[in-house]
Amino acid sequence: MIALSLAEIAAVVGGQTHDIPDPSAQVTGPVVRDSREVVPGSLFAAFVGERVDGHDYAQRVVEAGAVAVLASRPVGVPAVVVDDVQAALGALARHVVRRLGATLVALTGSAGKTSTKDLIAQVLQRKAPTVFTPGSLNNEIGLPLTALSATEETKFLVLEMGARGIGHIRYLAGLTPPRIGLVLNVGTAHIGEFGGREQIAQAKGELVEALPAAADGGAAILNADDPLVRAMASRTKAKVVLFGESAEADVRAENVRLTDSGQPAFRLHTPSGASDVTMRLYGEHHVSNALAAAAVAHELGMSAEEIALALSEAGSLSRWRMEVTERPDGVTIVNDAYNANPESMRAALRALAAMGKGRRTWAVLGKMAELGDEALAEHDAVGRLAVRLNVSKLVAVGGIEASWLQLGAYNEGSWGEESVHVSDAQAAIDLLRSELRPGDVVLVKASRSVGLESVAQALVEAG
Ligand code: ATP
Ligand code: MG
Repeated sequence: MIALSLAEIAAVVGGQTHDIPDPSAQVTGPVVRDSREVVPGSLFAAFVGERVDGHDYAQRVVEAGAVAVLASRPVGVPAVVVDDVQAALGALARHVVRRLGATLVALTGSAGKTSTKDLIAQVLQRKAPTVFTPGSLNNEIGLPLTALSATEETKFLVLEMGARGIGHIRYLAGLTPPRIGLVLNVGTAHIGEFGGREQIAQAKGELVEALPAAADGGAAILNADDPLVRAMASRTKAKVVLFGESAEADVRAENVRLTDSGQPAFRLHTPSGASDVTMRLYGEHHVSNALAAAAVAHELGMSAEEIALALSEAGSLSRWRMEVTERPDGVTIVNDAYNANPESMRAALRALAAMGKGRRTWAVLGKMAELGDEALAEHDAVGRLAVRLNVSKLVAVGGIEASWLQLGAYNEGSWGEESVHVSDAQAAIDLLRSELRPGDVVLVKASRSVGLESVAQALVEAG
């Protein structure tokens, strides 16, 4: 982070200094909330969680080199004491990004935020120093922590923003006001919490409402292929840049195909030129993510050739998203157990089908959470799609949702033995350990709460 004195920090967050011998002592960063991440120069933010109270670590973090603690009560070591540590962190982030010379890029969407954020970071990195959200730390705590990790050298700050409800993105965008705002898609993720797609669109569109006007450099990057995202063009004063496969998109893909290994390839068209991309990532859904990243990079002055090369060389930075492992015995494990929703399930199944041409393919699937009233129909549809894509075997893992997956397969293709319903991850592991043969391709995917990565890991190790 940029160096700030404790006195300055206290003024910015409206806090009281306690037990501070030298208010001019400098915090050089990072700002952390996990005591294990403290290094000399850190500011430790003490949060009161359900099980742990950060204040209990105050002594320890100062011994480890923290300059002070941002706390909600005096702790006997140097501290800036505030009423609300989270709000203080937000205020500090807002102060710091105003002083940075960096361009802020924020993105949101129902599926693909982390994948796209990683792509954007890898493309922009080639042009200038880039700081980006680690993993999926996209909420009111992760966002300021990420922003505070930027330094004077940082030219681009890429921030993932998750929306849990109306007003949430507006709040996040207020903390770290982006110049470029990207909305990927409006799917059914968290639809149970929101109540419907329109509400989800309402919440995500707050990002483009927060952008500066076109004359001040604001750019809203919108998915031309998603009607609810396209419609957000009317909610912004920023310049609108469309990406997608539709002909009217400013940044678009032509001749989209999956290579025999299941990796997307296409010709990238930008307003300033065209160039070919063959991705290292798996799954056609990454075409949309790549176009979104390309639109951002184009807006920031990169050429089609530079962007295409960066996209072709980009790898996954985050775990359990279409992570492909070739076992020595010729079995391929595709670990996409990080999360699932109907869109990503379909994309992953199509990738499995492309990778598995001429091979036996297994879809080991668990429930897609938070679908509300659509849950039955969506699980049924995924079961049916597995049949239509000629997946060889469906292993549905877990409770009632798994039986809906199986039922879909049964109804679509009269599937009997081709689909199996097992109660839990261990049962799936046992079954696959005995059934897998050299050459098989196995996709493992479910919502986060199911924890199917244990299946993928066990199968990788079994090789
Ligand atoms: P979270 O809300 O959990 O942070 P996210 O929006 O960051 O999720 P990712 O972590 O990138 O999304 O991907 C989640 C899942 O969605 C993965 O299984 C991935 O394969 C899939 N996915 C990625 N991009 C897309 C896309 N454009 N459309 C549909 N599914 C996608
Ligand atoms: Mg994410």
